[in-house]
Amino acid sequence: MGDHDPEGRERLDRERLTQAQLSAFRGMLGPVLDTNAFYRTRLATAGVIRPQDIASLDDLRRLPFTTRRELTEDQAARPPYGTLLTFSPERYTRDHRTSGTTGRPLRWLDTPASWEWLVESWAAGYRAADVGPEDRIFLAFSFGPFIGLWCAFEAARRVGAMAIPGGGASTEQRARLMADNAATVLVSTPTYALHLADIARAKGIPAMDAVRVTIHGGEPGASIPATKRRIADTWGATCFDHAGATEVGSWGFECGELRGLHINESEFIVEVLNPRPDEPEREGELVLTNLGRVGMPLIRYRTGDHVRLASDPCPCGRTYVRLDGGVTGRVDDAMLIRGIVVFPAALENAIRSVPQVSEYAIDVDRRGALDELRVRVEAAAAGGSSTADVAESIRRATGLRAQVTRAEVGSLPRHELKSRRVVDHR
Ligand SMILES: [Zn+2]
Repeated sequence: MGDHDPEGRERLDRERLTQAQLSAFRGMLGPVLDTNAFYRTRLATAGVIRPQDIASLDDLRRLPFTTRRELTEDQAARPPYGTLLTFSPERYTRDHRTSGTTGRPLRWLDTPASWEWLVESWAAGYRAADVGPEDRIFLAFSFGPFIGLWCAFEAARRVGAMAIPGGGASTEQRARLMADNAATVLVSTPTYALHLADIARAKGIPAMDAVRVTIHGGEPGASIPATKRRIADTWGATCFDHAGATEVGSWGFECGELRGLHINESEFIVEVLNPRPDEPEREGELVLTNLGRVGMPLIRYRTGDHVRLASDPCPCGRTYVRLDGGVTGRVDDAMLIRGIVVFPAALENAIRSVPQVSEYAIDVDRRGALDELRVRVEAAAAGGSSTADVAESIRRATGLRAQVTRAEVGSLPRHELKSRRVVDHR
């Protein structure tokens, strides 16, 4: 493994890491308390007027949470950017927008310094995957307003690798670009990696030959064991998960041990919010404070991601906390089906454990008083027992009985970004 952490920042003991976080947080508070209208009022209400008012991370935990709803309301009330800007608009050089799949799209601005911070956070993921100057990275995205791919694109330069943009091209053209350039790294959503491989195979394009690493964001698939395995097998590569969000930045990456996402604690303060106070705070909603995006910061931001902290140290030696199974779902996505709490990721894992399945779609309905779980699968081999296998796999994973039917191969939707395979009609 290369020398990806020369300053040892990823391996500090807990006490020194906490001190570093506190000092970075207080450094950020200076300008934020001076000129950030959104946080100035909120922090004053919590009794914080000067950075010195935060003497420990326990003090931080007394500050109010920030929610997605507050952000959208703020931007709606004061369009277009809201009141979360620390500096005057001319200081900002980047504008990005969220997809709006979970509500009204958010706009996010970055100053040159904040942008550097974002790119560096993404580069930490490349370094952990040992991606460097020898590599040619193919980015299979359409280069729209979503921030993650732009960070991934610029972070390639940071580690000395070549970045090959996959915008403005069909899937077949992308496969050819990968083959022509002998791309060694693929960055895409997990769903799209599988689709791209299907097309490359069908057209006989050797897109996969030189690929040794795939890195995935936008959906949790690369931390879902069955999906991860399938991507790794299909591409003949090591499959890494990567996590982030437009509003908070790139916060998580996987190391070569592939034991779940590490959270980049040099740049983020992590909390896990468990709705049941009597249980240990290892499982629940991920709450993040970013430490280097002074221009448009987030303090105690409720990400909406459901996570579970791993309790054992990672053999890679990083002291950053780790998430068992990555992001296990969106807190809002948890469904109650016949009295059982189910996350879409659990269903995905169960379905993708059946090797013949290439794509699927789930509908949840209510018939009379009873919830009904219907699954449509595209399955490769004809006449097999794939539908029965899927039903059995779901029953074992969740205890639920599902009605599984077969869909024609190629008939279910594929997406480049955030696919929604589960529709709850209730
Ligand atoms: Zn590790």
